[in-house]
Amino acid sequence: MGEFDLIARYFTRPARRAALGVGDDCALLQPAPGMQLAISSDMLVEGRHFFAGVDPFSLGHKALAVNLSDLAACGATPVAFTLALALPTVDAAWLAEFSRGLLAVADVHGCELVGGDTTQGPLNICITVFGEVPVVGGKSQALLRSGAKAGDDVYVSGTLGDARLALDALRGRLRLPADLLAQARLRLERPTPRVALGQALRGIATAALDISDGLLGDLGHILKQSGVGATIDTDIAITLIAACADDTCATGLISLKKQLECVLAGGDDYELAFTAPVSARSAVQAASRQAATPVTRIGRIDAQPGLRLVNAQGQAVPGSYASFDHFG
Ligand code: ADP
Ligand code: MG
Repeated sequence: MGEFDLIARYFTRPARRAALGVGDDCALLQPAPGMQLAISSDMLVEGRHFFAGVDPFSLGHKALAVNLSDLAACGATPVAFTLALALPTVDAAWLAEFSRGLLAVADVHGCELVGGDTTQGPLNICITVFGEVPVVGGKSQALLRSGAKAGDDVYVSGTLGDARLALDALRGRLRLPADLLAQARLRLERPTPRVALGQALRGIATAALDISDGLLGDLGHILKQSGVGATIDTDIAITLIAACADDTCATGLISLKKQLECVLAGGDDYELAFTAPVSARSAVQAASRQAATPVTRIGRIDAQPGLRLVNAQGQAVPGSYASFDHFG
């Protein structure tokens, strides 16, 4: 199978919203009136972002999901994406599963594949997503990292830390019972981009981002860009591991230290962290219900710079939790 047959077979579908999809030198997209384009790229490299031999359906899912997560963080509505793919060989079975996983996520979010590039080389997947955000009265409704104010609440969506548990288990650094590993592995390999929540938080959240490198490190980006600090309640945060929802963790299978490390610095969660004024608590709950996505209030924004960890009694919790840094 040649390059063009491959593109036609696995990555070409009739254009829907796009004025022109795959097949010409450019795709053509008509932004809706009153909308601004939101654009983001994410690259997945074998050995760095995923294990060699990972199941191709999951890989297709994750490649698009992590990009949609960036749109979610900005409160953008997905529109389209492009796919730049380097493949070591043409493996029809692999391509069929990869494109099935990719296009299933695309369909869930109405995000159409409009173009890309295909080349021979070490397995590498780079996606660029295009979304749209309303501009109201000349002002963009996009959620940014820079709007957090002292006194705001800090929230996270969904659950945190399970992807890291799975990663540690797959690397043989932790033993998990098979059912827990299967559950945690889904969080690592098939993250759920919080697209509906991001959109529901427009006009409510003062700042937002998606958690890809670990809660504290990513929250640090909001703090830095907003010129504020935060206090986070670790007794609340530690309840966010789904694998520990029953008493698995209480049995000592996963130490408290490990749980905290997974929640605070795990990475690969693809949940949203966001801030909102205290006066918006009921609006945040309404957004959470509307998006059918749970949110948990884990702390507050302070005028004093820096990140402080406290327990339920307000006592300082020691420890440093560095987030992932490719060149760190
Ligand atoms: P060009 O030579 O102009 O760069 P290509 O020959 O690389 O174009 O690609 C032909 C068409 O197929 C283009 O419309 C391009 O966007 C699309 N395309 C290439 N690779 C992919 C891919 N992996 N997924 C979707 N569309 C692709
Ligand atoms: Mg061309």
